[in-house]
Amino acid sequence: MARKFHPCRIAKPTPDQKELAYKLAQAEAPHRYGDLVAGMLAVERRSWWGDKGKRFSVGFPRTAPAELKARILKYANKWAEFANVEFVDDDTKPIVRITFGAGGYWSYLGSDILGIPENEATMNLEGFTARTSDEEFDRVVCHEFGHTLGCPHEHMRQELVARLDPRKTKAYFRQTQGWSAAEVEQQVLTPVSEKSLFGTEHSDELSIMCYQLPGSITKDGKPIRGGDRINANDAAFIASIYPKAKPIVIPPVGGKAPEFVMNGRRYQVLDVGAA
Ligand SMILES: [Zn+2]
Repeated sequence: MARKFHPCRIAKPTPDQKELAYKLAQAEAPHRYGDLVAGMLAVERRSWWGDKGKRFSVGFPRTAPAELKARILKYANKWAEFANVEFVDDDTKPIVRITFGAGGYWSYLGSDILGIPENEATMNLEGFTARTSDEEFDRVVCHEFGHTLGCPHEHMRQELVARLDPRKTKAYFRQTQGWSAAEVEQQVLTPVSEKSLFGTEHSDELSIMCYQLPGSITKDGKPIRGGDRINANDAAFIASIYPKAKPIVIPPVGGKAPEFVMNGRRYQVLDVGAA
C-alpha cells in the first residue's frame, strides 16, 4: 500500500554534549555490557540507558491538547509492554521534550538527550495533532521513542546500506525531501559501526526502526519494506536489553513461538504483528 513517505532524522549532539550525556547516564545507572544477548534490532552502546529500568518524564508545549499528549504516551508505552521502561506526562524537568514544529520527524538517540540543554527539544513530531491517524501514531511515535531508547535506524545497518544504489538514493531524497547529498550520506548511506551496537550481524527490514525504501533505489530492485509497528523481533530485543524483573510473554497472534534466554530467564516471542 503506497503512502506518503516521511523519513526521520537522528539529531546529533555535539561531542561535548555527547560526553556529558554519557557521564550523566553512567552516573545514573552504571552500564554493564557483559551479559546481554544479541538480537535483531540494535542499540547504540554509548546511548543505552542501562539495564536498571527507566521512567521517562515527557514534556510537551503548553498548548498541546491533553488528548494529543495522552495518545502520544499511549503509543510510546507500547515499548513498555516489553521493556522495563515507562513514559509519563511530567513537565517538571522532562527528560524527553517534544515539539510539533517544522523540520519533520527527528529525535536524539538514547541517553544522548541528557547532554542537550533543557530548553531544547529532544524530539520533533511535525504536524501531529489529535486528528492524525492511529496508523501514523503507531508507526511514527513508536519509531521516534525507539530512538529515545537508543535504537538507531535499522536501514543504517551494513547489510541494508549495501543494498542501496548511492546515486539513485541521493537523487530520491533530493527529490522527495530536499535533502543535500551530504545529508543523505549522513542519514542514509553511512552504515553504523556494528561494533558500536548491541545486535546481531543481521538486520531486520521489517523493524519499526527501518525506513521504507523503494525498489527504484536498491541495487537488486527490491524495496526495503520497512516496519510500521513494533514487531516480534523488536519486542524481543528491547525486552533483552531493558529487562523486566519477570519474564514476559508476548501475546500470540499466530505462527511459531521462538524463544530466547536472557540472564537465565526464558522469554517466549510470538508474532506481535497485529494490534
Ligand atoms: Zn528515525
